[in-house]
Amino acid sequence: MSKRVRTEVRVEGVVQGVGFRPFVYSLATSLGLGGHVGNDVGGVFAEVEGPAGAVTEFLHRLQPEAPPLARIDRLVARPLRPTGAGAFAIAPSAAGGERRALVTADSAACADCLRELADPADRRHRYAFINCTNCGPRFTIVREVPYDRPHTTMNAFTMCARCAAEYRDPADRRFHAQPVCCPDCGPRLTLLDAGGLPLGAADPVATTAAFLQRGLVVAVKGIGGYHLAAIASNASAAAALRARKHREDKPFAVMVPDLAAARRLCDVDDAAAQILAGTRRPIVLLPRLPGAVLPIAPAVAPGTRQLGLMLPYTPLHHLLLEAAAEPIVLTSGNVSDEPIAYRDEDAVGRLRGIADAYLVHDRAIQVRVDDSVVRYRRGRETLLRRARGYAPEPLRMAERFPRPVLACGAELKSTFCLARDQHAYVSQHIGDLENAETLRSFTDGIAHLGRLFDIVPQVVAHDLHPEYLSTKYAAELAGVDLVGVQHHHAHVASCLADNCEPGPVIGVAFDGTGYGTDGTIWGGELLLADLTSFERAGSLEPVPLPGGTAAIRQPWRMAAVYLAAAYPDGPPVRLAARERNAARWDAVLAMAQRGINSPMTSSAGRLFDAVAALLGVRDEINYEGQAAIELEQLADPAEKGSYPAPLAGAGPLRIKGPELVAAAVEDLAAGAGEPVVAARFHNGLAAAVVAACGRLRDERGLNVVALSGGVFQNLLLAEKVVTGLEDGRFRVLQHRQVPCNDGGISLGQAAVAGARDRQGQRP
Ligand SMILES: [Zn+2]
Ligand SMILES: [Zn+2]
Repeated sequence: MSKRVRTEVRVEGVVQGVGFRPFVYSLATSLGLGGHVGNDVGGVFAEVEGPAGAVTEFLHRLQPEAPPLARIDRLVARPLRPTGAGAFAIAPSAAGGERRALVTADSAACADCLRELADPADRRHRYAFINCTNCGPRFTIVREVPYDRPHTTMNAFTMCARCAAEYRDPADRRFHAQPVCCPDCGPRLTLLDAGGLPLGAADPVATTAAFLQRGLVVAVKGIGGYHLAAIASNASAAAALRARKHREDKPFAVMVPDLAAARRLCDVDDAAAQILAGTRRPIVLLPRLPGAVLPIAPAVAPGTRQLGLMLPYTPLHHLLLEAAAEPIVLTSGNVSDEPIAYRDEDAVGRLRGIADAYLVHDRAIQVRVDDSVVRYRRGRETLLRRARGYAPEPLRMAERFPRPVLACGAELKSTFCLARDQHAYVSQHIGDLENAETLRSFTDGIAHLGRLFDIVPQVVAHDLHPEYLSTKYAAELAGVDLVGVQHHHAHVASCLADNCEPGPVIGVAFDGTGYGTDGTIWGGELLLADLTSFERAGSLEPVPLPGGTAAIRQPWRMAAVYLAAAYPDGPPVRLAARERNAARWDAVLAMAQRGINSPMTSSAGRLFDAVAALLGVRDEINYEGQAAIELEQLADPAEKGSYPAPLAGAGPLRIKGPELVAAAVEDLAAGAGEPVVAARFHNGLAAAVVAACGRLRDERGLNVVALSGGVFQNLLLAEKVVTGLEDGRFRVLQHRQVPCNDGGISLGQAAVAGARDRQGQRP
């Protein structure tokens, strides 16, 4: 007879709203243990009592057998004096105190729920809001913590007797599933006409599918906002959607019913399939299959060899895709650059003239959350937008934050980050902080996340750019310590924090634009950096940015200044790019040479723009990064040729962009095709980065390189740089949990603020 013992267990991490208590309950009861389990603001607490062997087994199985959506960060067990408790019980939730419990991300419908959805005998057959403890909405419905029904937008629905019984039964898959509901007691679908009036459709899903098949555009209320849907093979529907949204070229995402359909459109290997079909369900940008049999209208994704695919993630999507019987475009419900509509009261107004009908429901969305976007190519994956399915999952840091931190991010692809103790909470993608609506999402989001995780910032980090709305927001906060963090230092620090590394490293921060410490515009930076500080060890050779933002919109202007830098006496050959823009070419150059509205920039993004314009990819862009994205798509991935890595011989370390441009011009004049030239440019720039890191290693003895900045969304470049560095025996850090673009800046700012705070508090 084994000795009787009692043990207290505390579990921290993603453990609430993921079925952890019923899991503990069934594990304990199966082992014949007594005691209890409950939620509190710190996570899950339990006490178990019984024979020592059974208690040990309980502790051993707790972590490996935890529910699929759970993530255990910390598990502490402590012996107690046995009390002789009998049956195991689930304790009511405790309120008050610190709110360190974690609200989880929204999760795709699970296999069990989908089985019930399709089962005519199940009482939730074809019910669009089916969910359980293993799946369903979370972050987008939570108003308060602890995470319990009255604190969610489901508080508007009173559970029927059968749902309530499931909710109360520890042996049921829906035990304490806060959004539990059924056709008798839960949310309902309604189909509205273009003016927002109910159409009285008996089967709103079937009618929506019929509308789509007729070529109409239907707004569909989702988990974190409204989408606009259209049949993906219908050219006129796709064109209408573009015209009405004022979205000229930026590709639309396509939802396909299943992996089999995805494989008929794109190259989907096993790793890509796992991302597509996982619980997070991001949009995955994948290489298109040449000659794919499934038709997709050209207007869906022009100018690119890839396609953004996603699989259905809500039960409604599953029903809709089944009824529509073919892939649909599912793009954010907004006009142009506005944030996605998510409130019922303004969706119809904001989407007027775009949507021909609205498929809506009466479960409110508490927080606007876009679809996440992942890029995948040949085993390499990069997060482009971190939102639904990821946020607000915390990132565990290597070291503690001495005081709570708010990091305000940058401007484009804005996120913010709240941090305390050993966790950083990076917000969902907010959008470009350029208008009042996005700014409100940003400020409301900070307040909401701060409430959920009980974080009252004492240290506030911000970009150095004085005109960013995020910087201005920080400057207006009272009673906090402000920490300004240089943009590219934040990029490198973000990559360090993403990998739980302290540095120092050689940081390669390549992006479009960031405010430098010398007042010029940086963007092709080689930094020697740790979390606390950095030194600018080198950069791309600066060139003028003629016309400021006009040069960002018009890549041909960058071609003009790069050519002028490469050939002070004029280029040796006739160039189509110059002829296309002859009317303004000389005037723009004269402006650049006189330094009128032409700040100097070392931006890597602008170097890509110059080459894109020279190769005839495009002279003007209509979305951020378009020329560089299309240049990468143009490049022949099989081409191995390169241009000589152009590093300045003496003085500060400079990658000489004009020499790369000259090599491209001469290659083109010699008859090389554009896809070959585009590839050789990528290879040449990658070789220059590798050579520059080699020189810095020789001088400084650092052997680790961190890659960050939006340019590394270019997976062709990333692959060449990483391969070159690893062949040279460097250790390379890349982003894993946050984007390399400005969406990751807030994490880097928070990491720097925390590191400086730790340093300041050291004796
Ligand atoms: Zn489920
Ligand atoms: Zn019910």
